[in-house]
Amino acid sequence: MSRFSPQAQTPRYLQRFACIGGSCPQSCCDGGWSVTLDRQTWNRYKSIPLHPVNQHLEPLADKGSKDEIAGKLVMRPDGRCPMHNDQGLCDIQNSMGEQALSATCRNFPRLFHSIAGQVHVSATLSCPEAARLALDSADAMTLDLCSLQQFETPLDMPRPHELEIGSGILREVHSVCAIALRDRLLWITDMAPTSLQAMQLWALLVRQVAQWQCNWKAYNQAHPEEHMEQSMQIYTGQLADLLESWNEATIQHHLDSIASLNAAENRSVQLAIMQASINLIQKYLPASSEIQLLLGSVQNWSAVFQSGAERVHELEKKSPWALKNLIRNDLWRNMWYTHVLSAEDLESNFLSLALKYTLTRMLLCASALQKNNSPVLSDVVRITYLLSRHIEHNTALHADWIRNLKNNQLNSSAAALIILGD
Ligand code: SF4
Repeated sequence: MSRFSPQAQTPRYLQRFACIGGSCPQSCCDGGWSVTLDRQTWNRYKSIPLHPVNQHLEPLADKGSKDEIAGKLVMRPDGRCPMHNDQGLCDIQNSMGEQALSATCRNFPRLFHSIAGQVHVSATLSCPEAARLALDSADAMTLDLCSLQQFETPLDMPRPHELEIGSGILREVHSVCAIALRDRLLWITDMAPTSLQAMQLWALLVRQVAQWQCNWKAYNQAHPEEHMEQSMQIYTGQLADLLESWNEATIQHHLDSIASLNAAENRSVQLAIMQASINLIQKYLPASSEIQLLLGSVQNWSAVFQSGAERVHELEKKSPWALKNLIRNDLWRNMWYTHVLSAEDLESNFLSLALKYTLTRMLLCASALQKNNSPVLSDVVRITYLLSRHIEHNTALHADWIRNLKNNQLNSSAAALIILGD
């Protein structure tokens, strides 16, 4: 395995991150997630046939020797890793040292992507410590350029996932557009008074970008003779103009118009969408999970929203960065904005992000009402990592979620705007 570029762009909180091991309230080792094994690790384990880990290895079918992923560790029926011992420690690390861990275990919760040759380090907030660090300080999501070396363990890591977006000039243009959109969205988050308003502004901008993308596609179909390079120049130039038009004055104008989202008819559509999403989550979550219990405790979501929203506002007054950092992290990690060339994908992926954010707010409202108090930072952290665990690591749920939205003609950021009504 080769090493990749020595510098990475990363949120500041990830430079502070260190696994808290035995003190972790919800270890990744008992999350029920599959642990894929890179070939180097697979060969290492196989070379010690008497080590207990060999009783739990499963090769991945039809994988040639050149594939980076060779197999997986089979979890116990209760979802716990068979190498996770009763002291909360890892038997592989204890017996063979940290360098024997698979890339999956060494890297979690960090994710490595490369876009336009730049490595990005992000993290899933399904790790409680990552969630705490990401949400509890104002500068956690400040982006820094730092040495990639500091994330590396003694072994070489596999290359970061290079985003596959077309080829040649298309790929180049796509990367430029995706990064320009992402940077504008991050800037808008700084300008917005609250996380909810930031999300609403994001929905408006994503809608505009999707509409512009449809126009560009129509233009291309009408001018097939246009030279590719020239056409791409028009494409990037138009997107740059659109993004630049989102200045402070435009943002203020949109914030003033967003108030109309509170209309009663939007509220009923919003609740219907959210109820369908909740039903899906309930179908997939274990009955004993905290999120399931919280969802099950609510009889009337409309009432919860009405009385809980004010309490979430209070939280945002005290910790204005917490929920904003949550959406900044999702934007940085999720990469949905790389679908700039596909209006439909851009919108449906954004809608999925908006749903997750709205669910977080709903759960915060429900938890606040249960405790008869305003939510505090630790509530946001807990709900964030619990919800992330159930949604991000469950591809079947996610696919069902998107299918349900599409079946109901709800795959656009216009629908996201309704979901995000306050
Ligand atoms: S979830 Fe995070 S803090 Fe907890 S054991 Fe895993 S990496 Fe460590």
